[in-house]
Amino acid sequence: MHFIDTTSALAFDRNHLWHPYTSMSQPLPVYPVVAASGCELQLADGRLLVDGMSSWWASIHGYNVAELNAAIHEQLGQMSHVMFGGITHPPAVALGQRLRALLPPALECIFLADTGSVAVEVAVKMALQYWQGAGQPQRHKLLALRRGYHGDTCGAMALCDPETGMHSLFAGVLPNHYFAPAPQCRFDGPYDGSDFAAFKAEFLAHEHELAAVILEPIVQGAGGMRLYHPQYLADVAALCRDHEVLLIADEIATGFGRSGKLLACDHAGVVPDILCLGKALTGGYLTLAATITSRHVAETISQSAAGVFMHGPTFMGNPLACAVACASIDLLLASPWQQRVAAIEAGLRAGLEPCRQLPGVAEVRVLGAIGVVEMSEPVDVATLQRQFVELGVWIRPFGRLIYLMPPFVIRPDQLACLCGAVVTVLTPEA
Ligand code: PMP
Repeated sequence: MHFIDTTSALAFDRNHLWHPYTSMSQPLPVYPVVAASGCELQLADGRLLVDGMSSWWASIHGYNVAELNAAIHEQLGQMSHVMFGGITHPPAVALGQRLRALLPPALECIFLADTGSVAVEVAVKMALQYWQGAGQPQRHKLLALRRGYHGDTCGAMALCDPETGMHSLFAGVLPNHYFAPAPQCRFDGPYDGSDFAAFKAEFLAHEHELAAVILEPIVQGAGGMRLYHPQYLADVAALCRDHEVLLIADEIATGFGRSGKLLACDHAGVVPDILCLGKALTGGYLTLAATITSRHVAETISQSAAGVFMHGPTFMGNPLACAVACASIDLLLASPWQQRVAAIEAGLRAGLEPCRQLPGVAEVRVLGAIGVVEMSEPVDVATLQRQFVELGVWIRPFGRLIYLMPPFVIRPDQLACLCGAVVTVLTPEA
């Protein structure tokens, strides 16, 4: 599909299409992208932009990938969708088998949801139904971390940071949960246990109401791109285990290698009771997510009053999405992804290093294929975005953050181009 007339298409878009977190009356500019291939997005005027975003953590193999295209074509000839109620199909079984082989053996029971936010809703409902089944329905609160982000639906929003999230906008509608202070420890810094002490105090104050702890392991993403110490995660997991409170790991952003390990939980050797995956699950091709739990949790849910797990979206286990997810996992596992992510990490460290000396830069941090430049003040997104496009890169800042998370297949020269563009836009004009 092409734009017949780009100018009128942009005018229509401006008048009628809502974009993420955007005003309909004063929208920020959007850029017309007509194709994407490898690590490049192609604008309607033919310009190519090196992709620094992986379409929000998802497109780990880049775009227009032969193997992923082929998987969808093949499945399309069989069936694009069929209801999952009372029916199963080869792509769902094949994906389930791949996830079983990939994930810790304890994570046995797989719910195929349709987006990351829904995967989080499903995880929360699993935790609540678990405690109903265990005869402790008073355990219906969650403990989350400040600066966390878990999605935009109501149940997920209620678990996002209470200040930078949307709690005040929807007060009275969202359920009230508990929040522990955001960990201050750094991934590669010293660990003195004070963050965990604060977490533990909040945990113990509400222990008998707690159904679960939910967190983004190691990388707090949309809430600030913060990277915390693996020992904090290990300590939280041990506390949950000792007190028999469920641990939900939201790996929707970090899953499939982004932090340098297949799961960010692997940095701490932690196996959660409930795991959420999404985004890169399909290599960024189609919307699909998964919430995966243990046999024990699943069986306890089955003993609850409902007797069944109460969720079942229309597009559950969509065959096209499952087929491309299988192909994406196969492609990832057949690739030297650890070396690629390590090379990207080294490239980001070297390429973003000069930012440390630039005015307005508060901190530069890198882990795996994630590079973050945190500014002291919020940036002007529209202006920076235009400068980046002029420099031939696709980088979308938010708040005080300019960050890079390129596809794993990015070439060294393309990565250098992304880092160079960040340095250029932050360098004051002479
Ligand atoms: N959890 C985390 C950690 C995420 O980063 C996101 C998406 N940014 C979500 C949940 C929500 O996923 P989705 O946008 O697919 O609903």
